Amino acid sequence: MNTINLLCNQFNINPKIIQLIKKHELLLDSQFNELDDIKTFNHYKIINAMQQAKLDATHFGWTTGYGYDDVGREKVETIYANVFKTEDALVRPTIVSGTHALSLSMAAVTRPGDEILSVTGTPYDTLQKVIGITGNEPGNLIEYGIAYNQIDLIDKKTIDIELINKKINDKTKLIIMQRSTGYSDRSAIALEELKRAIKYLKSNYPDIIIMIDNCYGEFVDYEEPSEYGADLVVGSLIKNPGGGLALTGGYIVGKKIYINEIANRSTAPGIGKECGLTFGTTRNTLQGLFMSPIVVNGAVKGSMLYASIFKELGYNVIPTVEEKRSDIIQAIELNDPDKVIAFCKGIQSSSPVDSFVTPLPWDMPGYEEDVIMAAGAFIQGSSIELSADAPMRSPYYVYFQGGITFEHSKLGLMKALNELLIKKHITIEQIDKLL
Ligand SMILES: *Cc1c(COP(=O)(O)O)cnc(C)c1O
Repeated sequence: MNTINLLCNQFNINPKIIQLIKKHELLLDSQFNELDDIKTFNHYKIINAMQQAKLDATHFGWTTGYGYDDVGREKVETIYANVFKTEDALVRPTIVSGTHALSLSMAAVTRPGDEILSVTGTPYDTLQKVIGITGNEPGNLIEYGIAYNQIDLIDKKTIDIELINKKINDKTKLIIMQRSTGYSDRSAIALEELKRAIKYLKSNYPDIIIMIDNCYGEFVDYEEPSEYGADLVVGSLIKNPGGGLALTGGYIVGKKIYINEIANRSTAPGIGKECGLTFGTTRNTLQGLFMSPIVVNGAVKGSMLYASIFKELGYNVIPTVEEKRSDIIQAIELNDPDKVIAFCKGIQSSSPVDSFVTPLPWDMPGYEEDVIMAAGAFIQGSSIELSADAPMRSPYYVYFQGGITFEHSKLGLMKALNELLIKKHITIEQIDKLL
């Protein structure tokens, strides 16, 4: 029994699909080599940060009660600050998600009368409720007297500095930028573009706080937005930096004064970072960080392979294979809700966990439309693991990400194509032409 037999006999993959994938993998060879250099760089950067912090086995224990003197918790935060090259960090299992980390940060650094300005268009779906642009959730920022304004990107990729200059006023306290695509039809913002905007804004408006939603962007490139002077960089541990091993949590890295405000908001003024249990998560959090560049590398390679094949099949893909990537997400415009469901079914059926489950659209908390999510993850909701999701709205983009290993990402692709084939959304003749 060889791999091809195993795939055909046990996973019921059509052999033509295997051939098609093999062909595209070869096409991407030189780009994959470049990604491997980024992986190696980030892996060594992280190991170095762990060595500098003198991490030892005693740091994997945990405390009780108030959680004073949790040396492991302090090491995690020192290591994160070093990796992101910031003054300080707040990395906690009690931050329940990326949304929580971002919400906490925005609420902590603003006061009634201040204004938040988003300069990368509408923020991620869940943040719209946090701010109060959608829904009417008690405790949203608008309810607290914080104003909100936004500026769209030029051509979906360039931050509109000229318009920012016009919109900034003496109330503007916080500028937010979302690096990743979110559920939108734009590519992730290039790191060079973030660099240009951050540098300009920090030199012209040094007192306005710049916060980057870095979800899905970590370790995709050699640098992080914090290295260009962003005051706060925020993300989730069940995405890239958790490496699939972190059990839960969020991170916030940045300037000491803001991290202190955020810590005060998360516990209580005067307590800040000094308290808070880690519930035995420190080992996984750090081993996950250690693995993260390898995991991210597999995820980005996987996304490129999906882009390459779906493009050839005639679908619009964001980003394209040629574009430089700034996150791990691959959006595919399927234009048909049934195709979205078939794609997600294929992804689900290639998972190690819950492979027998059929994903269906549902009214997920925090989102406006029904959302379909395919994930058979070891960590609930972990989207650095193989996953695909889509808000059920036209033009029916499906967002694919993750995989932990490149091989798993590839298996998801085979199963998704196979499912589209079974449902006659693509045909063997179509694949034959591409071989
Ligand atoms: C995932 C994500 C978030 C936060 O989502 P959670 O599910 O709450 O972790 C925020 N912004 C972007 C761009 C994201 O991709």
